[in-house]
Amino acid sequence: MGSSIVVSFVSLFAFLVFLLGICIFRASRKEHAMAKNVIYLLIAIIAAIVIQCILLFVPNEKTAVIVNSLFFVNVDLIRLLALIITVEFTGYVFRHEKAYLMIKLVTAMDCLLMIVNIYTGQVFTCVKMQLGDIYYYKVDIEPFFTVHALIAYATIGFILFMIYKKVASLSIEYWTKYIALGVTFSIAVIVNIVYLFSNYAVDISVVSYALAGMAAHYMILEHRFLVIVDRLLSYVLFLSGDAIILLDADGNCIYLNQQAKTSFEVENDDYSMVMPKMEKLLSMSDIDMDKNEYSALCSLDVYGKLKHYEVLYKRMLRKEKLVGSYYRIKDRTIEVEVFNKDKYKATHDKLTGLYNGDYFGEKAEEILRSNPTTQYYIICLDIKDFKLVNDAFGKKVGDRVLNAIAWKIREKTAKDAIYCRLSGDKFCIFTEKKKFDEEEFGNATKEISVLDGVNYPLTIHIGIYKVENRKLSVSAMIDRAFMAIDENKEAYNNKIFYYDDTIRESRYWEQRLSGELEDAIRNNQLKVFLQSQCDATGKVYGAEALVRWLHPKEGMIPPYRFIPMFEQNGLISKVDLFVWETAVKLLRKWKDEGVDDYYISVNISPADFYFLDIIKEFTELVTRYDVDPGKLKLEITETVMMSDLESRLLIVEKLQKFGFTVEMDDFGSGFSSLNMLKDISVDILKLDMKFLYKAKDDEKSKKILKMIVLLSKSLGMPVICEGVETEEQLEFLKSIDCDFFQGYYFSKPVPVEEFEEQNLRS
Ligand code: C2E
Ligand code: CA
Ligand code: CA
Repeated sequence: MGSSIVVSFVSLFAFLVFLLGICIFRASRKEHAMAKNVIYLLIAIIAAIVIQCILLFVPNEKTAVIVNSLFFVNVDLIRLLALIITVEFTGYVFRHEKAYLMIKLVTAMDCLLMIVNIYTGQVFTCVKMQLGDIYYYKVDIEPFFTVHALIAYATIGFILFMIYKKVASLSIEYWTKYIALGVTFSIAVIVNIVYLFSNYAVDISVVSYALAGMAAHYMILEHRFLVIVDRLLSYVLFLSGDAIILLDADGNCIYLNQQAKTSFEVENDDYSMVMPKMEKLLSMSDIDMDKNEYSALCSLDVYGKLKHYEVLYKRMLRKEKLVGSYYRIKDRTIEVEVFNKDKYKATHDKLTGLYNGDYFGEKAEEILRSNPTTQYYIICLDIKDFKLVNDAFGKKVGDRVLNAIAWKIREKTAKDAIYCRLSGDKFCIFTEKKKFDEEEFGNATKEISVLDGVNYPLTIHIGIYKVENRKLSVSAMIDRAFMAIDENKEAYNNKIFYYDDTIRESRYWEQRLSGELEDAIRNNQLKVFLQSQCDATGKVYGAEALVRWLHPKEGMIPPYRFIPMFEQNGLISKVDLFVWETAVKLLRKWKDEGVDDYYISVNISPADFYFLDIIKEFTELVTRYDVDPGKLKLEITETVMMSDLESRLLIVEKLQKFGFTVEMDDFGSGFSSLNMLKDISVDILKLDMKFLYKAKDDEKSKKILKMIVLLSKSLGMPVICEGVETEEQLEFLKSIDCDFFQGYYFSKPVPVEEFEEQNLRS
């Protein structure tokens, strides 16, 4: 029986030595700072085990005492190493450096005590025991053993104190690391005490030393803190802000960070719903899911709110074998929303919410490209005299009108039509030709008026370009639609005008003419014609200067063919400066010839007020040529007064003060004629028969004419009526007390020589 126990102990010890040997081997390959001390500890423990083996075979009591003493010294060494390792491992800081040294010294003293014991036997002796057929020697403690026990347990107690103190200061994840040491060390102490009071043949505490040694080796050198790494990685992944999902090689979800849990509504670590949701998210985009790496922008309705995610996927391969894969999902909702908002701002008109011109052009080009055989219309809208609406009713009302047009366009165009506000009062529609009902659309635009309940009809001009030449840019197509409008600008009804190439040709013609103007002035192609103005008896008082262009190729070009265009591009000022100077020169010539009875009326275009310093030009002219300003009459139109009334009034007043006569030309042609009379005091009012006879009701026109003449005279302004063609007209005008007359009835505009011939030399 006894020998079988010996055999089992020896095998157990051999096994422990084998395990410790492995630990030593592994520790020897570690760079760790504590590896050396751990190896010493393990060697010391192996030595303790070997000594215990030897003890099984000691022949006599004396040897037993010697070997046991060695064993106690060995255990002292183990304790000392355990102490050193614990101090290092826990980072324990001694309040007094000497205390550490004291403990070491005391342990050394204990060793000495044990060695002395070989001779004195005051600490322990050995007693022979019998176990079955074998004998062994057991330690029998003597009084001095108390000293040894005190030293040993105090040291062990201190070691445990350091460990548990450390545990108490750490978060739970770290506990395993220290508790393993604390527990194995504690077990070693308990087993040791048990052994002391038992009759066992061997000190079985070496088994617990071995366990503690291995625990120390593992915890200090091998333990990887997987939990801590896991927690830290989770934390880092959480900090990244993105949702992260890790999959194993089979594509099963094995980890989600906090964001992923929240977005995928994962509770209780049930990951089963993650992949189906992921697939649903990705189903919206057309990515190749077999790729090792891909990214996609996906949108998902989350609790009724559209969220946008950027999903990145990556497979991790090791030696071409799949280790796992991960999804990294960035919430791009804010960016996408900002982008969409910016895009909306960049592509839409702020006031009406329609597309802006640029975006409209892009879209229209896109449609044209993808529908090469469909016929399209570019339809442009322009409100006639929209500026007047703004001036008369205010910007708010103007904005409302623009919005009303926008809504009308939305309402009256095909569903797949696109439309935009190009600028100000200009709109544009791009629609399929067959889906556009000209009549319905024309009527719809008539329904738009300035104010609800107030009947102030708007004239909306509509120009249409039928898309024929697809090589043109959309903006060129829009230009053509507007050319159709411009060509008919004076029309006062909501008409639809179609572009055709003659319009463009006439535009080219106009451009060419504009380019030729300066040369024409230099080469005397511009001629001033004079049309006489007379009283009821036919006596001529003066003449209106009217320009003609004697073009070498085109022949005589009448002013209506170039004046409106020059008024738009500003060249009119050049024409007018020429006419004014010619007129003043003529006055000077007449003065020199002693026939200075006649005045000359010159026209001032509204555009001149923008491009010229009118006061300066006229005062300089009359001063330079030394001509009486009273001989120069200045014809302005009411449109001049439509903007910037205050400053325009001031100009008129200054001109009058200087001695010029200011005439209100074409009175009655505009909107605000009567209204204007209260603000402006011109010297003469000029009525044009052609405007007044526009109305069908002849009698009514006559009444109006009569009232205007009466009103004008009551304000102290003489009236001149132009466009007098018949005797009947003249008779009527005389009957209502009109003062002066101008018209074909008396004379057509004629070249200066002819005028001089007729009036000066007769
Ligand atoms: P306006 O200032 O109202 O000039 C009167 C126009 O009526 C002239 O046409 C004249 O020839 C025409 N007229 C005169 N009597 C009669 C008549 O009995 N019956 C008809 N049907 N017409 C008559 P014109 O010369 O063709 O000029 C047209 C317009 O061109 C002028 O209208 C004026 O606005 C502008 N214009 C002409 N010359 C100049 C100029 O030197 N400077 C500026 N800024 N504009 C000018
Ligand atoms: Ca005139
Ligand atoms: Ca006129």
